[in-house]
Amino acid sequence: MTAPTPLIAGNWKMNGTLASLDEARAVAAGIGATPARVAICPPTPLIRAMREALAGSAVLVGAQDCHCEASGAFTGDVSGEMLAEAGATLVILGHSERRAGHGESDELVAGKVRGALRAGLEPIVCVGETPDERKAGEALAVVTGQVRGSLPPELAGKAFSVAYEPVWAIGTGLTPTVAEIEEMHRAVRATLREMFGAAADAAPILYGGSVKPANAAEILHAAEVGGALVGGASLKATDFLGIINAL
Ligand code: PEP
Repeated sequence: MTAPTPLIAGNWKMNGTLASLDEARAVAAGIGATPARVAICPPTPLIRAMREALAGSAVLVGAQDCHCEASGAFTGDVSGEMLAEAGATLVILGHSERRAGHGESDELVAGKVRGALRAGLEPIVCVGETPDERKAGEALAVVTGQVRGSLPPELAGKAFSVAYEPVWAIGTGLTPTVAEIEEMHRAVRATLREMFGAAADAAPILYGGSVKPANAAEILHAAEVGGALVGGASLKATDFLGIINAL
């Protein structure tokens, strides 16, 4: 069994301007010895400038979405190939804000994962239940179903991660208990093994949803937690570094 290398990725969402690159520079300058790979995923127009600002540092640059196709008549969309050319090496796919706000289905997310792989990008595939689904006792079934539906067989042998992000924990300050996180991450791990065999043990399972410096150590050291996807707290270098250094 291969232990996954942890990944801590910041999701800037639709936040940031060229001036915000100073925060990314501060992350690169302040990062100490960490066992984790660290990435920042800014809005698309900042990818190239961020890659240049981080030149020579180990901090990776990721994107937040990509189209399934490489090019074509898809007004407003961006392909994995374009993101890779701009300097991204990872891409967040199937974030709950895209599933809810843009009607993205598991099938579409799986198509985007294929597009990312074609472009040489490493996908971070997001899954997570809504508050109603958790209240109804359906969280495990919903999340493992999303894993089955959103991760195509082409991921076998490829570098990727899954981010478990309960929708009710994103940007709310609420988090599941460590026991709830561990239960879900074990279920995701078992599903990945069924789908891809033991080789998928190399894929980290990230937790996302209101991770802060104050709760990062507890969450990052929980069983089967292989890192974090961080929204709000990734916008400030001091907060993001506090999370990275908690590992
Ligand atoms: C996210 O949107 O991926 C996220 C985890 O957000 P936050 O950390 O702000 O809850």
